[in-house]
Amino acid sequence: MPRRLLATVAPKSDLDHAGTVETELFIGGKWVPASSGNRFDVLDPASGEVIASVADGGESDAVAAVDAAAEAGPAWAATPPRVRGEALRRAWELMTERAGELAELISLENGKALVDAKGEVTYAAEFFRWFAEEAVRGAGELATAPSGANRILVTRQPVGVCVLVTPWNFPAAMATRKIGPALAAGCTVVLKPASDTPLTALAMAAILAEAGVPSGVVNVLPSRSSGKVVGRMLKDPRVRKLSFTGSTEVGRLLLAQAAEGVVNTSMELGGNAPFLVFADADLDAAIEGAMIAKMRNGGEACTAANRFYVEAPVAADFSQRLAARMSQLRVGPGTEESTQVGPLVNEDTVAKVDSLVKGALEAGAKAETGGSRPDGAGFYYPPTVLTGVAPDSAILREEIFGPVAPIVTFTGEDEAVRLANDTEYGLVAYVYTGDLARGLRVSEAIEAGMVGLNRGLVSDPAAPFGGVKQSGIGREGGHEGLLEYLESKYIAVNW
Ligand code: NAD
Repeated sequence: MPRRLLATVAPKSDLDHAGTVETELFIGGKWVPASSGNRFDVLDPASGEVIASVADGGESDAVAAVDAAAEAGPAWAATPPRVRGEALRRAWELMTERAGELAELISLENGKALVDAKGEVTYAAEFFRWFAEEAVRGAGELATAPSGANRILVTRQPVGVCVLVTPWNFPAAMATRKIGPALAAGCTVVLKPASDTPLTALAMAAILAEAGVPSGVVNVLPSRSSGKVVGRMLKDPRVRKLSFTGSTEVGRLLLAQAAEGVVNTSMELGGNAPFLVFADADLDAAIEGAMIAKMRNGGEACTAANRFYVEAPVAADFSQRLAARMSQLRVGPGTEESTQVGPLVNEDTVAKVDSLVKGALEAGAKAETGGSRPDGAGFYYPPTVLTGVAPDSAILREEIFGPVAPIVTFTGEDEAVRLANDTEYGLVAYVYTGDLARGLRVSEAIEAGMVGLNRGLVSDPAAPFGGVKQSGIGREGGHEGLLEYLESKYIAVNW
């Protein structure tokens, strides 16, 4: 039976679907308790109170989920691509119809402002629509061998059973960005969502089942023992693919485990995005872009601008204007319509942000706005702008994952590129300049998988998303996103 979220925090509006969320494991098309009987609590980041208790999957449940995915695999791979696509298209329709309810659920368990949660639902649903269209485009190739002796026939086949591991910061979109292409390609999956935000993943499972995805094709396994559960699945020879989104630290561990069984991997890892503003930039546009690149999701995004480098002649103006805009943002519970910045997801995250800011201030930075953690309940941190940040500050090297903008001044294009590339990460960078030739030159010189050129938002289901260096391996979205779940098979043919 579905369990209602606790009445104390159940949102006010018409929450017929999101207010009633399944809290068991979803295996083989059934809602089942954990074999151990264990459960874990999900908290409301705005108050720290418990909103639901979810089944805590263990290793035997992980084996059961892989059993279900392996059993469903051959029939799903043989299902016509058009039929697979139509199920994804129906899932897009259902998500779109229930966008308001899903947004409230995301906001409730993740803390993000409703406006961000609504944006996430649209973005997340779009992966189902995009891959519904891509499902029929897994085309192969036919060529004559250079020697003329035979034909080279290349066909694309689903990789097989996939383990998908997702973070808490986009609980819907990080799941659909993997499930969409996997299902379009004919793969079956076990999704292990982040334990801070399992409810949205369980809601996705219900929507996919309602959309006509057969039992066993999508299995969802919330767990507090992520290491054990994922490790167990990676040891199973039936598992042929791991797609992970999360921190670089955990990504490294999983790459080593995947190496044991030579499991195909896609890795979407951490970022440390530079945001460059040249003196010839349109400053109004740069401020708008900065607000999006920094404050989308309250700064809890792998694509968040982490370091602002501003050319000396415009640095003071840019800093004052950004501080003025940041100080006007309304901070409050994510589920309230008027909120622009919700709480961070948990105590660890807010403590990390606080310590990075304290470190920068102790090394001589100045808080133009914000800069200290408020008293009271909930995991809040105020929008903060720091100037005069010392070049060796940890806040410029580590992912902040919060609403803090450290600003550093630079002189000239060479210095800007050197500073931007001075990191082991390479996910995304932002460049603002009025000179298109410079913009393209700098975009090419920056070591990142993505660049926002005079634009503060790059995420788009139709584009290949991913990083270089220690930000990851592989791409999600676009046509490349489908290829991550397909193997090429070459048949040498004579006729
Ligand atoms: P995390 O690495 O702590 O956790 C991610 C997932 O891995 C969660 O489901 C977690 O339960 C699981 N996990 C943790 N330890 C594990 C282990 N030992 N074995 C197997 N699974 C394990 O990351 P997070 O805190 O949930 O998310 C924030 C991070 O995700 C940031 O670094 C952010 O940059 C990154 N991220 C990257 C992208 C991208 O597309 N590149 C997108 C969103 C978030």
